[in-house]
Amino acid sequence: SINQEEADLIAKDRQYVWHAMTPYNEQAPPMVVTEGKGSWITDNRGNRYLDGMSGLWCVNVGYGREELARAAYEQLKSLSYYPLTQSHVPAIRLAEKLNEWLEDEYIIFYSNSGSDANEVAFKIARQYFEQSGAPSRYKFISRYRAYHGNSMGALAATGQAQRKYMYEPLAGGFLHVRPPDSYRRPEGMTVEQFNLQCALDIEETIHWEGQETIAAVIMEPAITGGGVIVPEPIYLEKVRDICTKYGVLLIMDEVICGFGRSGRKFGHMNYGIKPDIVTMAKGLTSGYLPLSVTAVRKDIYEAFKGKEMYSHFRHLNTFGGSPASCALALANLEILEREQLVERSAALGERLTEELSVLLEHPIVGDIRSFGFLMGIELVSDKQTKEPYPLAGVVRIIGECKAKGLIIGKNGDTVAGYNNVLTISPPLSSTDEDVTFIIETLKEVFANFKV
Ligand code: PMP
Repeated sequence: SINQEEADLIAKDRQYVWHAMTPYNEQAPPMVVTEGKGSWITDNRGNRYLDGMSGLWCVNVGYGREELARAAYEQLKSLSYYPLTQSHVPAIRLAEKLNEWLEDEYIIFYSNSGSDANEVAFKIARQYFEQSGAPSRYKFISRYRAYHGNSMGALAATGQAQRKYMYEPLAGGFLHVRPPDSYRRPEGMTVEQFNLQCALDIEETIHWEGQETIAAVIMEPAITGGGVIVPEPIYLEKVRDICTKYGVLLIMDEVICGFGRSGRKFGHMNYGIKPDIVTMAKGLTSGYLPLSVTAVRKDIYEAFKGKEMYSHFRHLNTFGGSPASCALALANLEILEREQLVERSAALGERLTEELSVLLEHPIVGDIRSFGFLMGIELVSDKQTKEPYPLAGVVRIIGECKAKGLIIGKNGDTVAGYNNVLTISPPLSSTDEDVTFIIETLKEVFANFKV
């Protein structure tokens, strides 16, 4: 039952707040979250849930860290705001720290969201080629099923059906290739052969479009929101080689995979490759404040110097790199280091994968994939045909987990019919008991799930 105060709050929410991605449903109003501590959130009715999605793949160090609140508070007291047309100390310190994390020399451009960070990457890539005397290099290649953001360029890079869902025309010049979805590879091909072939698709696209027209390839190290598609090493190694061979920049979208999620500092470090541009958001501040980064290889930045009208990058961002966000991000990275949460992510991910592998015996669990502490469980109606399990059933499983106090997610490509991958991505600071709870709850839900 619901008391008057709770009912009023929901009524006001309905009256005033427009929710992203959530269809209006009178029977299932949104949960009003009031508190978070560690891996657990509490709603306004006092229900507690283990947040197996870290909000939206954000809260890497867990909720309720006073240290982060204090870092922002102290910074707001001393310098609340100044634009990065000039500079301030937190922006400098964080940029230095990020170079340490990236293990190479990058110059840091700040903005506010993952979408922003990708737009910045696209604009920098185009301007870089324009001023280097190769203005015809304006096209970008990304993958079907990948998500790169909500603005017109980032949405154009997105390879999910939603990109063409009522919002066209998007930014021009974006091409897509198939992702290395090994589970759905053609019959008769090994996983290795298929991954290599998917990388060669990119070379093929460059060939037919003309290498002089391609600016960059953008990809996540592993496709996350688009279904947890984790490539074999040969895929990313080959992509890196192809980009180098044709003078195409490689942009790594580390918005989700970064900051320990993948079991390494950045997802691409699992593959030993170096991107030309790295975009980050979410885990950069563990979601406590908005902040994103486009990290650009030093020599690309150098090419902008002394070019008169080109020497500045025409992209002003009022709030990008706000002092409090940068100070908080720095404190967040210090927690990740001090508590060795990157290593913890790898260990917890391994345990989760190992102990949940029994779910593969269930008639609808077709595949389980992991990238550090990020897991996808692909549901199918038929293990032979791999027909995606219907959305209504997927939603039912998520609901049954929630009823037992566990929040999990699903990948989203409603239009294309691929809504069938459950996603699990808890805070990296989760306790061993938290992980036990996730494992036990999922096992129980599947054991009782009537197909
Ligand atoms: N890239 C990836 C891989 C993402 O998952 C997201 C958001 N889920 C974005 C970019 C866009 O980030 P934002 O929502 O902060 O704009």
